[in-house]
Amino acid sequence: MRDPAIETMDRDDLDALSEERVRYTVQYAEDHSPFYRRWLAANGVSARDIRTHDDLLALPIVSGATIRSYQPPIARDFGFLSAPCADIFTIHETSGTTGVPKAFFLTWEDWTRYAEKYARAFAAQGLGHGDRVVVCTSYGMNVGGNTMTVAAHRLKMTIVPTGKCTFPSRIITSYRPTAIVGSVFKLLHLADRLEAEGIDPRESRVQRLIVGGESFAEEARTYLSDRWDCPVYNTYGSTEGTMCGECTVQDGLHVPEDMVHLDLYDPALRTFVPDGAEGRIVLSHLLPVGGRSGMVLLNYDSEDVTSIVSRERCACGRSHLRIRPPGRENDRLAIGMARLDRTEIERAVFAPENMADLTGEYEAFLYGEGDAGAVLRIGLECRDPGACDRRAISGRIVETLAAHNPLLGSMQAGSELRVLFSFTGPGGLELQQIKGRPKRLVDRR
Ligand SMILES: [Zn+2]
Repeated sequence: MRDPAIETMDRDDLDALSEERVRYTVQYAEDHSPFYRRWLAANGVSARDIRTHDDLLALPIVSGATIRSYQPPIARDFGFLSAPCADIFTIHETSGTTGVPKAFFLTWEDWTRYAEKYARAFAAQGLGHGDRVVVCTSYGMNVGGNTMTVAAHRLKMTIVPTGKCTFPSRIITSYRPTAIVGSVFKLLHLADRLEAEGIDPRESRVQRLIVGGESFAEEARTYLSDRWDCPVYNTYGSTEGTMCGECTVQDGLHVPEDMVHLDLYDPALRTFVPDGAEGRIVLSHLLPVGGRSGMVLLNYDSEDVTSIVSRERCACGRSHLRIRPPGRENDRLAIGMARLDRTEIERAVFAPENMADLTGEYEAFLYGEGDAGAVLRIGLECRDPGACDRRAISGRIVETLAAHNPLLGSMQAGSELRVLFSFTGPGGLELQQIKGRPKRLVDRR
């Protein structure tokens, strides 16, 4: 464990530490962040009014759009920059799927906190001195790959900074990595590619896969774990500063509660949901008293959803809060009264019986509602489209979808929804023609 005193702290002490840091961080924001200073003054709120984390309800919810609207070219200055420019160590940008990327300013002190969050997660996943880790997360303007590398230094690990999962197979055969950080689908592709070259991923030295970057169905994780014959650990990180990781117990992702405060809000973002209920992740940075930050965020709406597994001590000994693997709000569509999450399709695709024929790659499109009903078209990539048992696969997917989502099932039974399938060979899906992070459930209504 990286920091037993903090990571195993009793709940009361941990809550007290968190409250103290909420107070300090809000005061820091009022003193140093033009955005928060102006907002507090305009709304007649003072940092001194914020005494406990419940008082964060009195502060604005900040979205990605808020950050973009307080930075060039919309604004003259960076409203969220909260340290003198000369104190900034690195400037980052998020990938910018919608318009201008968000700018992020990190001091070296921020780096040490990001790195510590990753180091704790890596340690909780059993990594340490002697491990050789291939990092497929992109470097460049992202925070992730870079701060993971600093985290590795803390754990005395070796990093192979490939920055992407399309590295040549010699990285595996020559350097014999013990772990790979990547995304589920990219690590599946890598397994396929290695096997095509006569290298069995199960026979490699890889003992752990660390995945993140997108939500996934547990069935996809199980399949990936089987392909590599090793455990797959989930992480949830972002440039905005969340960094939660599963431990080897795999019963939720630990939130580093001394560095990040996480609230779960109702869909209207008005109030907190009770423990156990699903809510929108709204996060606040926590600075230690006397600490400084290049860009402090309070009440940042991640647009991700999760629920709390437990605030009780985990079997690994850590006391920090555990959350379910977060999902993305924009991975969900409403169809009539029913709601469909992308990972529900993924779960049905990754049924073990399908995986002899399918690669796991899929995409889904939802077309017109109205008198004719809605159509969900699921595209599947087959290893050999000629030999794949299309009827059996389609039947299983429809059954699994209906079994887990009864409303959707009854819409199908009542002809309000038709589910159609298309089967392609390797590389034949529409999303494989698009650069960047693919969207697998697309609303075309
Ligand atoms: Zn644990």
